[in-house]
Amino acid sequence: MRALLALLVVAVVVPARPAIVSKPIPFGARRQAETARYAARHYGLQTWRLEHPRVIVEHYTASDSFSSAWNTFARDSPDAELHELPGTCAHFVIGRDGTIYQLVALNTICRHTVGLNWTAIGIEHVGTSDASVLRNPRQISASLKLTLWLMHRFAISLPNVIGHNESLTSRYHRERFAPWRCQTHGDWVHADMQVYRARLAALARSEHVTLLRTGAPVPTTC
Ligand SMILES: [Zn+2]
Repeated sequence: MRALLALLVVAVVVPARPAIVSKPIPFGARRQAETARYAARHYGLQTWRLEHPRVIVEHYTASDSFSSAWNTFARDSPDAELHELPGTCAHFVIGRDGTIYQLVALNTICRHTVGLNWTAIGIEHVGTSDASVLRNPRQISASLKLTLWLMHRFAISLPNVIGHNESLTSRYHRERFAPWRCQTHGDWVHADMQVYRARLAALARSEHVTLLRTGAPVPTTC
């Protein structure tokens, strides 16, 4: 009985929702249609809607300001690297001062990680390296709180909180367009994400939040 009570107590502990500033980018019918076409081409899905996110992908912007990231994502022009529409975006951008901005609704597919956009929430950090984010107490603290809250809200497990550079070993990675199958980026490498996940687990412990641990990475043939 005592064990059951303990379980019930653990189950009702909910991580606090951090303060989030709404700064939506334009995402009207045209961008929705471009996103649905992207989802059909790359994932075989006919929708712009993010139905059931299973993965959170951490990124950094390789720039120094929130406004430059916002402008890039708002533009909806073909990206410089892969030349496709819709333009790239992220659901959240975290500034150097720790402010969390939300740019895109969580029921909407955002184009931030090849192979995972169909099921991943994207979090960008203003900065030029993993280390620049890990070293910034306000920014990393905001990032961990946001990620923990999203994990709880969508029942996302700790191994499914990944860095962009870990995308190819996600069990949810899929890409129908062969030339993109091994495409990834250099932001948030495994060693830095091990630090990030350890800090996330420590935050969960301090808030008495139970983390799901299922879903280990899978080998890649890339
Ligand atoms: Zn990235």
